[in-house]
Amino acid sequence: MLQINPKLSVEKISIFSTIAQLCSTHNAINLGQGYPDFDVSPLLKDRVKHYLKQNKDQYAPMQGIQELRNILAKKYTSSYKTAINPDTNITITAGATQAIFTCIQSVVLPGDEVIIIEPAYDSYGPSIEIAGGKVIPVMLNPDFTMDWNAVQKAVSNKTKMILFTNPHNPTGQIWSHEDFLALSQIVNNTNILLLSDEVYEHIVYDGKKHLSLLDYPELSNRGFVTYSFGKTFHATGWKMGYVIAPDNLTRAFRNVHQWNVFSVNSFLQYALADYLKDPDTYQNLSVFYQTKRDYFQREMEESRFKSIPTNGSYFQLYDYSAISDLDDIEFTQWLIEKHGVAAIPLSPFCSQDSKWKVVRFCFAKKEDTLSIALKRLQKV
Ligand code: GLN
Repeated sequence: MLQINPKLSVEKISIFSTIAQLCSTHNAINLGQGYPDFDVSPLLKDRVKHYLKQNKDQYAPMQGIQELRNILAKKYTSSYKTAINPDTNITITAGATQAIFTCIQSVVLPGDEVIIIEPAYDSYGPSIEIAGGKVIPVMLNPDFTMDWNAVQKAVSNKTKMILFTNPHNPTGQIWSHEDFLALSQIVNNTNILLLSDEVYEHIVYDGKKHLSLLDYPELSNRGFVTYSFGKTFHATGWKMGYVIAPDNLTRAFRNVHQWNVFSVNSFLQYALADYLKDPDTYQNLSVFYQTKRDYFQREMEESRFKSIPTNGSYFQLYDYSAISDLDDIEFTQWLIEKHGVAAIPLSPFCSQDSKWKVVRFCFAKKEDTLSIALKRLQKV
């Protein structure tokens, strides 16, 4: 019998694929996996068609096309306090998950520890393990804010990196200025690197401002920041993203990226470069999603679910303890099978048993979709 020793210790299918499959088996409404069910802007699609007609079919440069990196450099230099050079600080990736994976592979060595904040997006742990690193999980506080004492306690002389998501998936919490000060105190005078996953940068509610790692030059000079065109432009299936990092980290990143992906879809890069010239294409996203969030929240008040307010992302957590004693995975299965609505349980985002009776709903859907789902949820 052929012996293989696979790199990952646990063989599992991601919770997003599992729920999507279950959802289609039971013909349920998918408020689980985070993707919109409305269309990409016709203007952007037009640019894509244009560049397909222009035969932009061959390899793009490894780091991404110049036009796209230029417009991104302009966008970030004007929005934040870190100056971004298109040639040495930006690399275009095949989505944010690939960007995160490659950031980790480019700097994490066997035995290095990487602190992640749980509940944590499910790709982080396996990506660290593939690099030979050790995942050091730190739980959020019970109200889902950052527990900085716990982060400080988790730091050791083997800590290579702290990885976090802001706005946070799955809880929708966002970082305050004080969070960045606490992080600064922890990493000051250390060699700890940072990886800030900011794919929901443009989805922040109630007039609040997204604070980025790029707002803090003393932190961004040791950090990668990852982004997603898919989340911002309703095109998750395009798998297009980018990473911003200082020169030395960008070199380390590209050194792995070129042997992995090499380069990313060319005609989409040209299309995105044109589309990004108008800041209106992303600046009103918070308002757009806030209408959906408010509608979802208001209607959910007529249900037995208890809202855990969201400040960012297109997710909202709900406590179901008034409805059921089932654990969150069983509850999610039951909700799909008996009520025809899918959610995402929290426990797959945690390495230890979570006691939360909480699930995540995605409200990035047409009003018609939300309305049918809400009628079902009100009956649960
Ligand atoms: N980012 C999406 C979410 O959190 C899922 C992406 C995926 O299915 N891997 O729902």
